[in-house]
Amino acid sequence: KLYNLVQDLKGNIRVYCRVRPFLPGEPTGLSAVEHIDEGTITIRVPSKYGKAGNKPFMFNKVFGPSATQEEVFSDMQPLVRSVLDGYNVCIFAYGQTGSGKTFTMTGPKELTEESLGVNYRALADLFLLSNQRKDTTSYEISVQMLEIYNEQVRDLLATDGQTKRLEIRNNSQNGINVPEASLVPVSSTDDVIQLMDLGHMNRAVSSTAMNDRSSRSHSCVTVHVQGRDLTSGTILHGSMHLVDLAGSERVDKSEVTGDRLKEAQHINKSLSALGDVISSLSQKTSHVPYRNSKLTQLLQDSLGGSAKTLMFVHISPEADTLGETISTLKFAERVG
Ligand code: ADP
Ligand code: MG
Repeated sequence: KLYNLVQDLKGNIRVYCRVRPFLPGEPTGLSAVEHIDEGTITIRVPSKYGKAGNKPFMFNKVFGPSATQEEVFSDMQPLVRSVLDGYNVCIFAYGQTGSGKTFTMTGPKELTEESLGVNYRALADLFLLSNQRKDTTSYEISVQMLEIYNEQVRDLLATDGQTKRLEIRNNSQNGINVPEASLVPVSSTDDVIQLMDLGHMNRAVSSTAMNDRSSRSHSCVTVHVQGRDLTSGTILHGSMHLVDLAGSERVDKSEVTGDRLKEAQHINKSLSALGDVISSLSQKTSHVPYRNSKLTQLLQDSLGGSAKTLMFVHISPEADTLGETISTLKFAERVG
């Protein structure tokens, strides 16, 4: 409890961790994880990564391999609901490729009601709550879906498959926005499922089997909310960014060249820019370096100030990806 209080004073930044289960075919004998409890994850560190032994990492919340999608969402629900009170919220899924980011945010390939991820649940919950408030407030909810690949912003909801690069603008009336990106009003879970399908399809078009771009680009679902108080006429705005980040794994510079190297450098740059922004917000330094990547420029209005941030790091239990797991946990330590 005291830890939560300290976190609140630090300014609305929370850091969660989720450990996915072993998948069919993965050798379960060796786990990188020694122990998990509600707020700590203890990793078994062999000597090749420094001092051998058990190393604990602390979080605001840890979800183990048996956590359900419903449990994960219910913990995030107050954060999501604050959007209807006019807050700006960012939720990031961070981790190496294969650690479960997309599972948390979207769900598995074959979606069932139980396996729906945060994106679907968040919107369904906003519909539910806005409907409960309909006698006092009239809400309009709309959705944008963008991809950032190689520091270029693309509209994932373009109906004509347009892939031209979009500019991030900053004007005094609307703040930071991408005026050319589709902004689609939604009022039901069916609307949302249709939109997400379009977004996922547009994302897949640019990938081939050999070249799964989705793990090397950031995808950002943005929910814009406008609420009008029916008695006073007062208008409030809230927004929520749900970001499935590019895989955080380091590529070996000696092994990749050309396009792959360029991609890796862009990812590296934008993930460290994000880490720099969040850690400078949590340390309350006066200069926050938003300008260093497209991702942090795009989210500038929703990082810092009264905005609420959840960094949700993901790790795999596999012992043979322990090096990446440790660097993910160190990233979490730095931003928390
Ligand atoms: P990422 O987006 O980080 O690359 P994915 O979300 O695609 O990782 O997850 C990799 C694989 O593991 C997928 O087959 C996914 O369905 C599965 N998976 C991830 N997290 C879980 C989980 N919590 N429970 C069951 N399966 C999971
Ligand atoms: Mg993914």
